Amino acid sequence: MIKQIYMDHSATTPVDLEVLEAMLPYFAEKFGNASSLHSFGRRANTAMEAARRKIADLIGAHEEEIIFTAGGTESDNIAIKGVTLKKKKYNADSHGPHIITSAIEHPAVLETCKYLETQGFKVEYLPVDRYGMVSVTDVKNAIGKNTFLISIMHANNDIGTIEPIKEIGKLARERNILFHTDAVQTVGKVPIDVDKMNIDLLSISSHKIYGPKGAGALYIRKGVKLEAFAHGGGHEKGLRSSTENIPGIVGLGKACELAKERLTKDNEHLTELRDELIKNILNNIEESYLDGHPTNRLPNNAHFRFTGIEGESLVLTLDEKGIAVSTGSACSSKKLTPSHVLLAIGLTMVEAHSSLRLTLGRGNTKEDVEYVTNVLPDVVKRLRDISPIW
Ligand SMILES: *Cc1c(COP(=O)(O)O)cnc(C)c1O
Repeated sequence: MIKQIYMDHSATTPVDLEVLEAMLPYFAEKFGNASSLHSFGRRANTAMEAARRKIADLIGAHEEEIIFTAGGTESDNIAIKGVTLKKKKYNADSHGPHIITSAIEHPAVLETCKYLETQGFKVEYLPVDRYGMVSVTDVKNAIGKNTFLISIMHANNDIGTIEPIKEIGKLARERNILFHTDAVQTVGKVPIDVDKMNIDLLSISSHKIYGPKGAGALYIRKGVKLEAFAHGGGHEKGLRSSTENIPGIVGLGKACELAKERLTKDNEHLTELRDELIKNILNNIEESYLDGHPTNRLPNNAHFRFTGIEGESLVLTLDEKGIAVSTGSACSSKKLTPSHVLLAIGLTMVEAHSSLRLTLGRGNTKEDVEYVTNVLPDVVKRLRDISPIW
């Protein structure tokens, strides 16, 4: 059988076997409803609260500041709509935007903001530089009298650039503006402390950190008021009603516990592999370029462009060789429009279409990097041989 190498961890990760093991009893044996008063319910509730502590521990929060959600998308929606809809009074004509965000946010943030624009709220989408960095000065200049929320992602899922969120958070704090960050790509990879980083709301997704899909969490700083997202039985402080997904919650908790234990080790391992991969590819393939920030980037992200190549063909050809990677990002690669992130850093349509994202994970080895280093130059050459634009 052909060797299979998975280098698409920013799209999703495998469930860690320890996470799976932790979850299993909560399907058929300890299946209780966490709201029930009997022992089945109490067992579920105890497991849920233990998970909440583990999540809080990973980001320097208190357990009462964590609510469970159905994933990163839902956390972003609850945070942004929750804060915004709480603002019953707003003045569409007054100066300055209500919400400040960036042009390179995940669709879970961008589309939520676009929706709020249809409801009369003003949103400013800040541009980024060619490395995908948001400028703190731009944020400062955009703030107006009516700005009540800033939402800037911690790291970009496409190109891996890590944003200056500590400084942005500080600005927001000084002006009494709430600061939300989508940290789906950084949780477990980069140290996070919600106090030191001045964060009021932070989104987490379980399936990006070796937990199960369909689970997530939102950190809400004590005192921050949100409008409910789902109305019903009043679960999760009334913010998100629905019987809790206990296996998912237990899995997310375990994933956070492991992430905390392994953060330094994982970070070193990924950085080493990433740097080796970037060096090899740039050295061995002519007219290859690295996108995203050269140093201030996710430890597991390598994002390239190869002149004359069509990213989709590259992904499919690599798949035949057992290498699973992505063009731009998994969210946009089924559409024909290139990633909004690549356009925002100033790439042309053709350049944006020639990109390839490799995102490493815990399971990747030096041998994997070696294999990709051996296979990729050859594949690029073959595709270039038949490319009309090379
Ligand atoms: C994957 C991802 C999301 C969405 O998370 P889901 O759990 O899949 O809904 C949101 N933001 C970023 C940056 C992501 O990478």
